[in-house]
Amino acid sequence: MATHETDVLVVGAGPAGLFAVFECGMVKLKCHVVDALDAIGGQCRALYPEKPIYDIPGHPSLLAGELIERLEAQAAPFAPVFHLGRQMVSLARDRDRRWRCGLSDGSVIRAAAVIVAAGCGAFGPNRPPLAGIETYEGDNGGVRYFVSRREEFRAKRVVIAGGGDSAVDWAISLAEIAAKVMVVHRRPKFRAAPDSEARLKTLADQGVIELVVPYQLHGIEGDGQRLTAVVVATLDGATRRLEADFLLPFFGLAMELGPIAEWGLGLDSGTVVVDPATMASDTEGVFAIGDICRYPGKLKLILTAFAEAARAAHSAHPIVHPDQALHFEYSTTSGVPAG
Ligand SMILES: Cc1cc2nc3c(=O)[nH]c(=O)nc-3n(C[C@H](O)[C@H](O)[C@H](O)COP(=O)(O)OP(=O)(O)OC[C@H]3O[C@@H](n4cnc5c(N)ncnc54)[C@H](O)[C@@H]3O)c2cc1C
Repeated sequence: MATHETDVLVVGAGPAGLFAVFECGMVKLKCHVVDALDAIGGQCRALYPEKPIYDIPGHPSLLAGELIERLEAQAAPFAPVFHLGRQMVSLARDRDRRWRCGLSDGSVIRAAAVIVAAGCGAFGPNRPPLAGIETYEGDNGGVRYFVSRREEFRAKRVVIAGGGDSAVDWAISLAEIAAKVMVVHRRPKFRAAPDSEARLKTLADQGVIELVVPYQLHGIEGDGQRLTAVVVATLDGATRRLEADFLLPFFGLAMELGPIAEWGLGLDSGTVVVDPATMASDTEGVFAIGDICRYPGKLKLILTAFAEAARAAHSAHPIVHPDQALHFEYSTTSGVPAG
C-alpha cells in the first residue's frame, strides 16, 4: 500500500481544512488532505449546501456549497493532494520524528506536522432500522440522508421522515418543486422552529403537503435498484403504503470523535484542547483548528476557523523547516502561484 510524504497532513476537508491548505501554501508548506466523506466541504456541503450563509466577511450572502467551491479554487494553486472517502485512523511517530498517519484503506501519509480540522469528528446519519435500506442508499436508489441537489426532487414523490428542523424545512422547500411531499412523524407535534411548524401546517391544510401522523417508518419496497414505496405503521401496527420515488429520513446525525480519541491528544468534551496563540495541541507538531478545537472563548464559526488556519500554518512552519526563518508577508506582497 502507498506511502506518501508531505510537509503537512490536514485531517478534514471542511472549510477549516481547505483554508488551512491555502494558508500553508502561503508559507510554502505542501499539504495532503484526508477526508472520510467522498467529497470535500465538510458540514457545508454535506448538510446545507443550498443554504445561504450571512456571516462570511465580505460576502453579505453566500450559499454554503458556493463557499466550498471558492475555498477549493483558492487552495488550488498550492496543488493539495486529496485522499477522499478514507478516514485517518492512526497517528504515530516514526524514528525520524515524522508523523506516520494511517488511513482506513491501509495507505500511509508521513508528514512533519498534522493539522486536525475534523469538525465534529466522523459524522454520519442516524439510519432508521429498516431491512434492506442500504440497497437503496446509492446515487440512484432513492434514499437520501442529505439534500445536496434540490433539483433532483422536481416532479418526484418524496417521503420525508422526522419531526425536527431538517424534516420540516425540507418539506416546505421541496413542496415548491416536488409532485408530492409526505411527512411521516410519530406524533402531531413537531420539534421545529415555531414559524416553520406553522408554515408546514398551513401547507398541509392547503393540501400541498400530506402529514402522515402518527406513523413511523416500517419498511421500504423496491426492485432491488430503485425504491418504489415506503411502508409506515402506527404504534398499534396498522400499516399504510406510500408510493414514492425518494425517502429522506431526517433523524439527526451521529457525531463521534471516532479514531481521533485514540491518538493520545489532550481532549475535553470530545474536542482537542489547543493553545489559541499557536493552535498547538499538547502533542508537538499536531495542531487543531475549526469546530474540533477548544480554547477559552472559542466560537464555532467558519470565520473563526479561517483565522485559526492562518495561525496553525504559521506555527507549523518552524516544525517543518526548523532551520528557516519565516518572514511575515501580506498576500498583496507575496501573491499566489499561477493556478
Ligand atoms: C445547518 C447548519 C448551518 C450552519 N450555519 C453556519 C453559519 O451560518 N455560519 C457559520 O459560521 N457556521 C455555520 N455552521 C457551522 C459550520 O458549518 C461549522 O462551524 C464548520 O463547518 C466547521 O468547519 P470544520 O472544517 O471545522 O469542520 P467540518 O465542516 O465538520 O468538516 C470536518 C471534516 O472532517 C472529516 N473528518 C472527521 N474525522 C475524520 C477522520 N478521522 N478522518 C478523515 N476525515 C475526518 C469529516 O468527514 C468532515 O468532512 C452551520 C452548521 C450547520 C449544521
